[in-house]
Amino acid sequence: MKIVLATGNKGKIEEFKKLLPNEEIIPFKNLIGEYEVIEDGDTFKANAVKKAKEIYERIADENIIVISDDSGISVPILNNEPGIYSARYAGENADDKKNNAKLISKLKEKNIEKTKAFYTACIAIVFKNEVYTVHGWMHGEVVAKEIGDNGFGYDPMFIPNGFDKTLGELPHEIKKEFSHRSRALSLAKKVLDVIL
Ligand code: IMP
Repeated sequence: MKIVLATGNKGKIEEFKKLLPNEEIIPFKNLIGEYEVIEDGDTFKANAVKKAKEIYERIADENIIVISDDSGISVPILNNEPGIYSARYAGENADDKKNNAKLISKLKEKNIEKTKAFYTACIAIVFKNEVYTVHGWMHGEVVAKEIGDNGFGYDPMFIPNGFDKTLGELPHEIKKEFSHRSRALSLAKKVLDVIL
């Protein structure tokens, strides 16, 4: 099965390849080159649907399946920031380092070393002009420092429930079992089983 991923995020592409080892995963750039979807929705779902639909329309091949993921981390004590703004928390062209630094400084402003947080992933699937969406969550805590190099994005700051280490320190197999993206993807696989 050929699945086109409507994302340019290298961390996500690597995770999808590991999560779907038997499928041919093609980043959309390999088919249509550089293209930016403006993520102006106000929910993970709105942005995921927008990304998948725009890429599907541009590829214009009705036999292709396009999958997108809109995801992020929410910290309840910060009014669920950064949420849908996770990728650009420190500004439009911010990278993971800058976003993490901003979250650390927001926590430090409130003298917080550790607090509850959760990741959300919405996966949208477009196939034969129909759109399907599923969600997954992972709950845990964020710490006001980065520990470890594994994963991507906010992973060095996130300790999943049931563990005492960050995803930056834990092996990928652990994240694969519990992550918001894995959980959403296992639901997405059920959708694919029905529609394909
Ligand atoms: P999106 O590409 O607009 O969905 O933004 C996703 C952003 O959320 C990423 O750039 C990361 O900052 C963050 N994020 C989403 N999923 C993860 C994850 O599994 N680990 C760490 N950060 C994540």
